[in-house]
Formats: sequence, C-alpha cells, structure tokens
Amino acid sequence: MTDTSSCKQPAGTVAPVIDRNRCEGKEDCVRVCPYDVFEVRTLTGDERATLSFMGRLKATFHGNRQAFAVRADRCHACGLCVAACPETAIRLAKIAAA
Ligand code: SF4
Repeated sequence: MTDTSSCKQPAGTVAPVIDRNRCEGKEDCVRVCPYDVFEVRTLTGDERATLSFMGRLKATFHGNRQAFAVRADRCHACGLCVAACPETAIRLAKIAAA
C-alpha cells in the first residue's frame, strides 16, 4: 500500500520541476511517487534541441529518455521524488495562482 503520510500540501499547490540537463531517465521518480505523477519517455527533437551540449551528450548516452511530470496536478509535495532522484534533477515549485 502507498504510504502518503509524508504528504505536505493539497494537490495543485506545488509541482515537480525537472532539470532537463540533469535527468537521465532512471525512473526512480516513477517508482516512488505515490500519485503516479511521472512518466519516462523519449525526448522529441524540439525538446532535445533545448538541452545544453552536456545535456545532449547525457541524453544520447541514456537513449534520449527522460522523466516528465505528466500529472503534476496530483502532486502533494511529499518530496519523495526529490530525495530519490540520483541526478538531483527534481525540485518542487509553487504553482502560480491563476
Ligand atoms: S513530491 Fe514528487 S513523489 Fe511526492 S507527490 Fe509530488 S511528484 Fe509525487
């Protein structure tokens, strides 16, 4: 059963932000998130074009796969993904009020 006891915020307050030049698509975030926020998929050409030189090298080495917060609106700010990411590629950011 998923342990959600460390959740700190109602959904829609903060969302994970992924550093595209750090993410190596190792899927730790996918495994630990209690709310199924993440998916790992192949970068599009446009997404790859936004990477730094080192980011493109890393992406090539890891099959151009990275994590995306496709259901960021479910995030409860538990911080498990931030702690689990071996590349320290994830931070939580407050969602701006509409
Ligand atoms: S902080 Fe990370 S692990 Fe926790 S709910 Fe949000 S996206 Fe999922």
